[in-house]
Amino acid sequence: MQITDFTIKTRSYVFPLKRARDITTSDAIESDSITSGLIVAHHGISVEVLFADGVRRTVRVKRNSGHVVGDNVTVKEEVLTRMPRTTELRRRDARGGIHLVAANLDVLGIVIAPLSPTGFIDRAIVTARAIHLAPFVVINKCDLAETAELVTSLHETYAGSVPLFPLSATTRSGLASLLEFLGAGRRGVFVGNTGVGKSSLLNAFCPHIDLQVGETSDYKSMGRHTTTVSTLHALEGGGELVDTPGFRDFGLVDISAQDLAAHFPGFENSAGETCRFRNCRHRSEPGCAIIASVQQGSIKEERYATYLNMLDEIEADEEKNRDKGRRITPQK
Ligand code: GDP
Ligand code: ZN
Repeated sequence: MQITDFTIKTRSYVFPLKRARDITTSDAIESDSITSGLIVAHHGISVEVLFADGVRRTVRVKRNSGHVVGDNVTVKEEVLTRMPRTTELRRRDARGGIHLVAANLDVLGIVIAPLSPTGFIDRAIVTARAIHLAPFVVINKCDLAETAELVTSLHETYAGSVPLFPLSATTRSGLASLLEFLGAGRRGVFVGNTGVGKSSLLNAFCPHIDLQVGETSDYKSMGRHTTTVSTLHALEGGGELVDTPGFRDFGLVDISAQDLAAHFPGFENSAGETCRFRNCRHRSEPGCAIIASVQQGSIKEERYATYLNMLDEIEADEEKNRDKGRRITPQK
């Protein structure tokens, strides 16, 4: 199922954090009652659950329990039961391990600023769509003169595909439209290279979290026994942002060639005239709607070339992994 970028799944909006108050485990909650809540913070061996009445409570969990921020749960005594998820976001760590980052997100904010590489925008958009999150692009540092050129070029490439938010986390100009977008009840997370201003943006949106700006290595240099905390923040005007320090600096998981063919930004307008083959990779297949659009000029040659380069790269990786798989298969 493909989700159009500008529409999101309807999901009942969760409780505003403003009303939350802290209680200890021994307080108020009757031991035999089952209560539903939302995981709003993850501390490794415990999670913080926000209940419908605004009460927050810390519940101990096993280190690899698999619960993440954004999970809807029921709590009976000390036992957490997880409700089915609508979406799951994963990340790849420096050693190639894959970790679940957050659940039930609606949108993925791709943050760009001058001098940051723009090559990963296509990949991030495809990743988001493949896991049913609607991607949007934030162009930060619009207070700097050099950002204007970046805004123009990104607008040309992506305006028909995803919402774009040129803004400045420092001066707060342009922040209102993004707040309004999230305010429609969207739950999101920011990704982007170090230095583009993700911490500054989170600070601008959620002043109470007070993240260190420009301290790009603080999470990595934390003591070995300190657990990275993921948190979910409700915004004043509606919507929520998840802050996951480990995710902000690390990579998205790999995309498949099939994901790329199905979700490449810029191919949406040709989606109506579907290709003859359902699994068409738009390379040289007969009856390909994308190749026809390139020939008619509605898809720029340049974008198509970018697509083919990415497709080559991903297919080569897939081939390499298949070979590796063959080699490690034990011989009978
Ligand atoms: P992160 O690594 O993506 O979390 O980026 P930070 O939020 O730590 O910001 C990196 C640097 O960019 C810091 O020096 C910020 O002060 C600066 N910065 C962030 N947002 C803006 C902005 O809107 N305008 C300008 N001029 N600088 C910004
Ligand atoms: Zn095709």
